[in-house]
Amino acid sequence: MQATLLTIGDELLIGQVLDTNAHWISSYLYEQGIELASTMTVSDSKLEIGAALTHAAKTSRVILLTGGLGPTKDDLTLEAIAEHLELPLVFNEETFARIEHIFKELIKRPLSPLHKRQAYQPQGAQTLLNKQGTAPGIWIEKHGVIYIAMPGVPREMKYLITEEVVPRLLPLASSKTRKELTIHTAGWGETQIATAIQAVEDKLPSHISLAYLPSLGTVRVRINAEGDNGEALLKELEAWKVKIVKLLPKELIYGYGNTSMVEVVQQLLLKKKMTLVTAESCTGGMIAHSITERPGASKVFYGSVIAYDNSVKKKLLGVPDHIFKQHGAVSEQAVRAMVKGILPLLGADVAIATSGIAGPSGGTPEKPVGTIWVAIGTRNQIITRKLSFRHDRATNIARTSTTALDMLRRFLLIA
Ligand code: AMP
Ligand code: MG
Repeated sequence: MQATLLTIGDELLIGQVLDTNAHWISSYLYEQGIELASTMTVSDSKLEIGAALTHAAKTSRVILLTGGLGPTKDDLTLEAIAEHLELPLVFNEETFARIEHIFKELIKRPLSPLHKRQAYQPQGAQTLLNKQGTAPGIWIEKHGVIYIAMPGVPREMKYLITEEVVPRLLPLASSKTRKELTIHTAGWGETQIATAIQAVEDKLPSHISLAYLPSLGTVRVRINAEGDNGEALLKELEAWKVKIVKLLPKELIYGYGNTSMVEVVQQLLLKKKMTLVTAESCTGGMIAHSITERPGASKVFYGSVIAYDNSVKKKLLGVPDHIFKQHGAVSEQAVRAMVKGILPLLGADVAIATSGIAGPSGGTPEKPVGTIWVAIGTRNQIITRKLSFRHDRATNIARTSTTALDMLRRFLLIA
């Protein structure tokens, strides 16, 4: 079933409000087995909404819309749908009675004449009861296309999608089953992976597809299969997975399915009965935050020193002055000394230390922005790595955190 989503609102097009509805709806529908063929962001203009509807109706069986259902004159979605379908807008007594009731009993404010606008809907439309707000959703079918309009307020939209829209759409969706399997990798780029597994990818049958999802030094390789028998599909996916995995270095893969780098690191620490601490300069505690975000951290994580200023590296971690003078705070020697300092200070088995220039300023020709040193170590062994990123500050920091966790994972695998 081909479906299109139109998110409507000027605020989305001027960057004032992030279009979280498109993100939420696409992932929720996908989980339910309904895939969007396209999404479009459209301004609060009857002309633009009409043009988008005409375009979408050429290929889609279902057109979902969010936004533009408010009581004010800038909300034009229903008028645009009515014009597109060449139907009049008619007053719905029941909807108006509900709005009146909400104002009288719950909001306890007099009803504005503007609210009357929310009770008009294209002739023949069904009302989707919105228990989270005043504007109802509407569902109308014409010429084989279903139009579903919902309010833009994310809470109200989510209520309507889960309670009213999806239960009605599911019986219409394809009877085909879809299964997927994900391979999580860290350390290679997507083209490197694609090149390594090309021989297998070229042989995939048409009902199986492969997608690469890169993010901050990790790549998820997702294999999808579509068919009639779920169990058979899973078996098939498993067989393809084995073929793909054979072509990749073992340590490149950190997990399968619904896992995360943090989960894998926590489990490895548990297995090795080791406790972790972090000494973070440029990452500012982000590594500690990502570890503690996941339940179960208390079993493997002691704490962190955010040694942002050199005085803290010196006072708390005992990094000697001569290291700053000879090599600088962003150096292999500095992160080694940070590991050596934090392990006895916090009494843990293994430590991560970071020090780098996240940017946008602070770079030099020898150490440009994005130069970051990471050390991982125990009392007996320390490994280090120099990272050279070219991202903005936030991405440099986030990617350093993921890379450091991956370094720790690889370190624990052979520790
Ligand atoms: P509307 O239904 O157009 O009156 O939208 C009401 C409010 O919902 C807007 O002012 C936005 O703050 C929010 N909103 C509308 N569309 C979206 C969207 N696509 N993603 C996130 N928030 C939205
Ligand atoms: Mg709006």
